[in-house]
Amino acid sequence: MKKYILAFDQGTTSSRSILFDRKGNILHQASQPFRQIYPKPGYVEHDPEEILKAQISSAEKVIKEAGISVPEICAVGITNQRETTVVWDKRTGKPVHNAIVWQCRRTAPLCETLKEKGFVPLFQKKTGLTLDAYFSATKIKWILDQDPAFLKEAQEGNYLFGTMDTWLMWKLSKGSIFATDYSNASRTMLYHIHDLCWDEEILSILGIPKIMLPEVRPSSYYYGDIDPSFFGEPLPIMSVLGDQQAALFGHGCFEEGYAKNTYGTGCFFLINTGKTPVRSENGLVTTIAWGIGNEVTYALEGSVFIAGAVIQWLRDEMGILKTSAESEQMALSVPDTLGVYLVPAFTGLGAPTWDMSARGTVVGLTRGVNKNHFVRAALESIAYQSADVINASLEDMKNPLKVLKVDGGATQNNFLMQFQADILKCPVMLPNTPEMTALGAAYMAGLTAGVFEDLADIQKNNTYSKTFYPAMPEKEADQKYQGWLKALEAAKAYKA
Ligand code: ADP
Repeated sequence: MKKYILAFDQGTTSSRSILFDRKGNILHQASQPFRQIYPKPGYVEHDPEEILKAQISSAEKVIKEAGISVPEICAVGITNQRETTVVWDKRTGKPVHNAIVWQCRRTAPLCETLKEKGFVPLFQKKTGLTLDAYFSATKIKWILDQDPAFLKEAQEGNYLFGTMDTWLMWKLSKGSIFATDYSNASRTMLYHIHDLCWDEEILSILGIPKIMLPEVRPSSYYYGDIDPSFFGEPLPIMSVLGDQQAALFGHGCFEEGYAKNTYGTGCFFLINTGKTPVRSENGLVTTIAWGIGNEVTYALEGSVFIAGAVIQWLRDEMGILKTSAESEQMALSVPDTLGVYLVPAFTGLGAPTWDMSARGTVVGLTRGVNKNHFVRAALESIAYQSADVINASLEDMKNPLKVLKVDGGATQNNFLMQFQADILKCPVMLPNTPEMTALGAAYMAGLTAGVFEDLADIQKNNTYSKTFYPAMPEKEADQKYQGWLKALEAAKAYKA
């Protein structure tokens, strides 16, 4: 019997390969970083060929080091950094430009022009997204605008567009797979998430030829095989999912109302809203979580720009900490922040406040405040900002949260996780495996391959190392949160 599932986790800074057994346990993993290219302030690019090489070499490494043979792998699952855009020439297989990374702001002026023309409601209604440079649509337009010949090539079907999943599959199948899944398509800002098709009107507004777009398939789907020239044997690709959606799936958030928050540099919150898309009145985006068979599951998504990054800042710029981990002991060495709130609005405030001109603010300083209070306020700010996003989504869904599943580097901080449970008044569950994104892709591939019978069969494998239950009196939690809301007002009031 084929024993293993291989997940490709094509992230923003590295391409990783992780080998799972049939129960979702990690057997071995390998990672290969690639260059971050910054041609100008605010511009971020990747070399697509380098990403492909990094993916292949990490897979070779994991297979070799785990001591398994390729025929023992029953399925490959792909999860990827979302929105990052590559356009390539299908005749040569060469990218026509470096990939434009999701973080890249180069198309912000184009988005402003579209906003001025009144297109925000149209984009929101069809794609579920706020009109922003983050998503692929304006990045594709920018590439096509670089040379008068590009548009013609695209119209004639010579140029293809893909997010990283599409690019990897096309290359690894030697051009025979040109596809993406619903979750990735829903982040391009070109996909009609209700009608489940590329949207002709948006394509015509942006002047993007439909012929350059990939087929959209379910996330659980047999896409085709990796050509045997890469690993010696053909390997079937059995799932594709964007990274945040994959983490939601990895956590087993299969039902409406189940949610996960990832605590990394920023935070990414997703809540499963079931078979119907929920439109946010609070600045969150509506997205497709995944498609299985004929059914599509939707999610609401919100993010916090500065989360773990505030701890990095205290460490690297302020020199208050030596290591991120040290923040836990420092926070616990004082009973509270002595009334201090730190709002790390270094790049403005995201959902649900949306104030791009807000800047970092500290309020409530008194003579007795020391660095431990300050560090504690920084950690609490991560929980408050997450609570803002989570509460906004719950208002949209009109439902309380049953439990929050968590992952990411900063979940190692017990103080932070406990404080999050206290402020949300809801249990916070930390899984045993830290690799939720790759696990989600592996579970989905295993579902396609018949390793798992159904979602319940997958759910059985998920185990949690810790659950943080709310312990703070509710009144105290409310008072603290009210203080945070006042601090947010202060951050908004100051204009540089
Ligand atoms: P990313 O994938 O965004 O690079 P990770 O999931 O690796 O992030 O998490 C790293 C972030 O978590 C860093 O910003 C770091 O400061 C923060 N972090 C890591 N460990 C801790 C800790 N024990 N307490 C608080 N923050 C932490």
